[in-house]
Amino acid sequence: MNVITNHMPTQDLQRLDAAHHMHPFTAGSELAEKGARVITQAKGVTLTDSEGVHILDAMAGLWCVNIGYGRDELAEAAARQMRELPYYNTFFQTTHVPVIALSAKLAELAPRDLNHVFYAGSGSEANDTNIRLVRHYWAQKGQPNRNIIISRKNAYHGSTLGGGSLGGMSGMQNQGCPVIPDIHHIDQPNWWSEGGDLSPEDFGLERARQLETAIHDLGPDRVGAFIAEPVQGAGGVIVPPSTYWPEIQRICDEYGILLIADEVICGFGRTGHLFGSEYYGIRPHIMTIAKGLSSGYAPIGGSLVCDEVAQVINDGGDFNHGYTYSGHPVSCAVALENLRILEEEKIVETVHDTTGPYLAEKWNALTDHPLVGEAKIVGMMGSLALTPHKASRAAFKSPVGTVGLHCRGKCFGNGLIMRHVGDRMIISPPLVINTSEIDTLIDRAVQSLDETYDLIRAEGLYEPA
Ligand SMILES: *Cc1c(COP(=O)(O)O)cnc(C)c1O
Repeated sequence: MNVITNHMPTQDLQRLDAAHHMHPFTAGSELAEKGARVITQAKGVTLTDSEGVHILDAMAGLWCVNIGYGRDELAEAAARQMRELPYYNTFFQTTHVPVIALSAKLAELAPRDLNHVFYAGSGSEANDTNIRLVRHYWAQKGQPNRNIIISRKNAYHGSTLGGGSLGGMSGMQNQGCPVIPDIHHIDQPNWWSEGGDLSPEDFGLERARQLETAIHDLGPDRVGAFIAEPVQGAGGVIVPPSTYWPEIQRICDEYGILLIADEVICGFGRTGHLFGSEYYGIRPHIMTIAKGLSSGYAPIGGSLVCDEVAQVINDGGDFNHGYTYSGHPVSCAVALENLRILEEEKIVETVHDTTGPYLAEKWNALTDHPLVGEAKIVGMMGSLALTPHKASRAAFKSPVGTVGLHCRGKCFGNGLIMRHVGDRMIISPPLVINTSEIDTLIDRAVQSLDETYDLIRAEGLYEPA
């Protein structure tokens, strides 16, 4: 077999990719026609493709490369661990040093009494674990019928059958999900699209109180848990109104239901706090973690579990659940090194004190652009709602996502990775992005918005629905 390397012509790589590689969340045949962009290297916040083009990655891969690309220390940590103990499991009364060290570190970093970790290979798997944890917990407490989990429409909790059933994204809902019974979805706190004439604060309360209504309708003795992302990420960086989380917390407390914060994106500094739960002052019983835990350098996820829930599970005999790669030693070693860098280089503090506010000021100023109705930003995650009519928050007449996709294409052309969710543009850059890189990000975003504006006006797409 010929060796396939970076030095093959791009078209050859694309042809092989199209022939044999099925891409996630992609229309395969459409992509095969065009050819995928081949990324060959990355350093800091910058990707390089097979044509030698540099691209500012304002998505940190998939929201995960928090400490930036190209950190040798993580490569060294992985290599060291692979030489010493590349693999061992933790199923049958065994353990190993990296998993012990990472668990102790996570217990130290996590808020309150989230002192216990159940490991998975990804965020999706961790949410699958959470379904089983919650149901087993209530069964152990003598309430086996308390198995309903309430989630939200347009939530993203992963792509396995469990994660996909918890999630509420319309594009996934008609492709084999949801399949897990006893999962119920309430509406999301997306004021821009769904707030109508209510103020954001009143709307936030109304959406939070849907949780209380659902608990009443389903039966307080049937509802075991509520799961949500502190800030919805893949749903379009939907930042909830200030009234939302305090009301959700009140309701969870009042009905004694478990609160699961899916911190897969918000965790490890993205909000300018170590966890999104700290930013919002919420007190989850379980947190889902992944992505930024290893800055994406190695696959790892997990559930951070509070003392009481862990105690009930631990006292309940065998918990018949786990993955071959739960607590994988190489991933644990990489995650530990990532957390060391995050702490020692004060990366979260820098986002909170310096680069976050700097980005926020420039990001919010994008509302001066004729296409941008709303700019939202928390720490290093931001969104822009594109609209043909700001005052009425109108959607475009074209099918949802048409304008967003045009804008994403323009960004690509200008050396910027910014994603679109429908007609919202979103960013989630590496947390190490510096002020001059932020300037570049904003310059390229403005250029791309200008070009999108010209294009959609020329094509008759600048029309309210
Ligand atoms: C990405 C994501 C997941 C799924 O994580 P994977 O590692 O892709 O399985 C779950 N929840 C949230 C909030 C995410 O953003």
